[in-house]
Amino acid sequence: MTLIDQLRSSVAGPVLGPADDDFATEVAAWNTATLHTPEIAVGLTSEEDAAAVVRAAAAGTPVRVLATGHGSAVPVTDGILATTSRLTGVTIDAERRIAHVNAGSRWAEVIEAAGEHGLAPITGASANVGVIGYTLGGGLGPLARTYGFSSDWARGFRVATASGEVVTASATENPDLFWALRGGKGGFGIVTSMDFELVELSSIYGGSVFFDAPQIASAVPAWIDWTKTLPETATSSFVILRLPPLEFIPEPLRGKTVISVRFAFVGDAAEGERLFQPIRDLGPTIIDAVAEMPTTAIATIHNDPTDPSPSWDRGLLLNELDADFAKTFLDVAGPDQQVPFIAIEIRHLGGAAQRDVPEGSAVGGRGGAYTFFMAGAPDPSLFATVLPPAADAILSALSPWTADETTINYAGGLTTPGSYEASWPADTFARLAEVRTTYDPNTLFPYGPA
Ligand SMILES: Cc1cc2nc3c(=O)[nH]c(=O)nc-3n(C[C@H](O)[C@H](O)[C@H](O)COP(=O)(O)OP(=O)(O)OC[C@H]3O[C@@H](n4cnc5c(N)ncnc54)[C@H](O)[C@@H]3O)c2cc1C
Repeated sequence: MTLIDQLRSSVAGPVLGPADDDFATEVAAWNTATLHTPEIAVGLTSEEDAAAVVRAAAAGTPVRVLATGHGSAVPVTDGILATTSRLTGVTIDAERRIAHVNAGSRWAEVIEAAGEHGLAPITGASANVGVIGYTLGGGLGPLARTYGFSSDWARGFRVATASGEVVTASATENPDLFWALRGGKGGFGIVTSMDFELVELSSIYGGSVFFDAPQIASAVPAWIDWTKTLPETATSSFVILRLPPLEFIPEPLRGKTVISVRFAFVGDAAEGERLFQPIRDLGPTIIDAVAEMPTTAIATIHNDPTDPSPSWDRGLLLNELDADFAKTFLDVAGPDQQVPFIAIEIRHLGGAAQRDVPEGSAVGGRGGAYTFFMAGAPDPSLFATVLPPAADAILSALSPWTADETTINYAGGLTTPGSYEASWPADTFARLAEVRTTYDPNTLFPYGPA
């Protein structure tokens, strides 16, 4: 029996080859610039399907997982691509403050289900990103300084491992695999669900303000100084946006270069307003949308795009910043520079993001003081030739402030040899390799950029 026939006889979900009508839809990624062309696509509908895929592939066909494709930077061109989009569903145990999240769920589903109980998950900026893919990479969101990496809140995973069994990975069962899944990213098995601890939090003081281009030169150094005064209960970021003159951009921002300062404060709204005042004092805003808000609206702080689009990005972590950094940054990326990046963002880290969980976890980047992220203009004709040297020029100018380690969800540019591995401290990556050897001795689950 061929592999595809074997899969069709053992998996309840669709098993598709490249000639099948629905194949392209099944393997489509949120990043539309990446076209996956695996030999076989399998739409998982259950834990049993995941185990059946592993057992069928055991003879040596590589297995990779596609959730939403937000992280699809490199095409998958061989083996089986197991898709999780049918495996949605979130159940909340309000008493224990635990969300049981199936592998295909996006953050929006968890936010809504938890919100009904006055609870909130520690998410990323976008509610559209997949919960599992994001959390496997650690995950830094709008509340990172207060609550740390999202993976710190993972309490257990169900995983179809190379043995063909579905096992639990938690602090008490397979703890080495649990350690690896909290930030070690892909290549350990097919995660079918996760138990995730929620926090009791129904509102925060937060949102974003937008200033016009002439204020960027003063806002950047002021923001850096201001972040040094903030308590751990406050997390902030800024982004310089070069927005096209297109209909879908809100009118006051259309066609402009602006800076948006984002803020999220956990505590009394009046105290949040007091802490944010130095940013308001920077001058007139185009939009001021910082106020007390329900945590269910957390994705409005960053307002990330939700529709699939071609995307290209680069990211890394920065050490402590100073006035020299602000000057250098503005020289290479400020509003007067013609750079092909629609968004250039810096997020403030530290606080809880620096502290590991008591039992330890694999996530890289706890030592970073800030994240740095650039998204290229969404034009695939620029991706291979124009964006890489433009990004390199900016990153090279900022290299005196670059941190040694980064964190995989922010890495981007993973096609450069060695850059995937460099997303973890060397001893962490070596320990991840040991866990891979234990659970996947024949490398059924490749790891790396694809
Ligand atoms: C608009 C946007 C906003 C973002 N915001 C943030 C942010 O605020 N903070 C942050 O930290 N990151 C952020 N990211 C990065 C994001 O966390 C990563 O791209 C993440 O990999 C996306 O996961 P996914 O499941 O949605 O995507 P996918 O591309 O489908 O999955 C990414 C990888 O995760 C692994 N994976 C996914 N599901 C499974 C599974 N069930 N079993 C085993 N492996 C699996 C696979 O290796 C897969 O290649 C953002 C990305 C975008 C595009």
